[in-house]
Amino acid sequence: MFNLSSISSTNSAPRHVKVLILGAGPAGLSAALYAARAELQPVVLTGTQIGGQAALTYTIENYPGFPEGVGGAELGDLFQKQAERFGAVVEFDSAQSVDLSARPFRVQTDNGEYTADALIISTGASPNQLNVPGEVELTGKGVSYCATCDGWFFKDKPVVVVGGGDSALEESLFLTRFASSIKIIHRRDSLRAGAILQKRAFENPKIEFVWDTVVTEIAGREKVEAVRLKNVKTGAESLLPTEGVFIFIGHTPNTQMFAGQLEMEGGYIKVDERMHTSVPGVFAAGESADSHFKQVITSAGMGAAAAIEATRFLEAEAG
Ligand code: NAP
Repeated sequence: MFNLSSISSTNSAPRHVKVLILGAGPAGLSAALYAARAELQPVVLTGTQIGGQAALTYTIENYPGFPEGVGGAELGDLFQKQAERFGAVVEFDSAQSVDLSARPFRVQTDNGEYTADALIISTGASPNQLNVPGEVELTGKGVSYCATCDGWFFKDKPVVVVGGGDSALEESLFLTRFASSIKIIHRRDSLRAGAILQKRAFENPKIEFVWDTVVTEIAGREKVEAVRLKNVKTGAESLLPTEGVFIFIGHTPNTQMFAGQLEMEGGYIKVDERMHTSVPGVFAAGESADSHFKQVITSAGMGAAAAIEATRFLEAEAG
């Protein structure tokens, strides 16, 4: 028996849209809101993480309008509802490849193909790995890149956090709800994180810092049992027993798909102050194009700007 539905979807003509948005984080959903209000019926492809990295954050305290803070997943949900109210369509689908050499642009996805008059790229960024022995093997078995997702599994257990930025401290503070103790392993003797988070972390009795130290191996058979540490100043090595390793050492933009088609800088898509990329009709916003600010509000602002510019681009073309 032939499966008619799969044959028809494989052979079906590409779906044409005026504005296609890749990624459903704060940048993508803000772009969707603005493009929808311009009556461009944008389609948003969610990729793997609806709400983007923000949705993995327990509480966001620096997005204006929420004086008590707002849950990351809840904020993503509100962004989506607001965009949909004006006609944006959110599809649970991921772009696999793009062809930006001619218009309409072509985007191959998990479920089919799109053509688009204008494209807004808001594919965000993914957490960096330490690239030490044991990391890949023990991911999901004690190694995690998301405290909000996995913190609960470490109730009354000792964990380590790697990193010295805002993410490391914010996620450590979240982990204090569950873990018995948190050792933050940082490769220097001063933090990159902002002052408020530093103050909260220093004051929290469950958090301890291990300075000038790197993780050289994550050890364990079925699950994480210990991390091997090395002091970068003295060279001294030690083994620290732990059940969880949370890694927050920055992010890499999800832009590999556009290499060779768009101008890039350090892996980030190059945009001008109006979110135009090197290809007319292609705009980029959020962490795929922002190596500097990386905040929910700046990503949302870039998304809105990209959609305004996409609207103007299509209007100018239509005369
Ligand atoms: P980040 O600011 O780039 O910090 C990464 C941290 O990991 C740094 O402390 C860095 O050490 C360390 N690191 C990098 N590579 C390492 C390696 N191979 N081994 C060991 N340590 C390594 O990244 P982030 O904390 O994810 O923050 C990203 C952006 O999001 C920032 O702009 C941040 O302000 C923002 N953010 C804001 C909030 C908030 O406002 N509440 C929350 C989360 C994130 P060095 O310091 O030595 O470079």
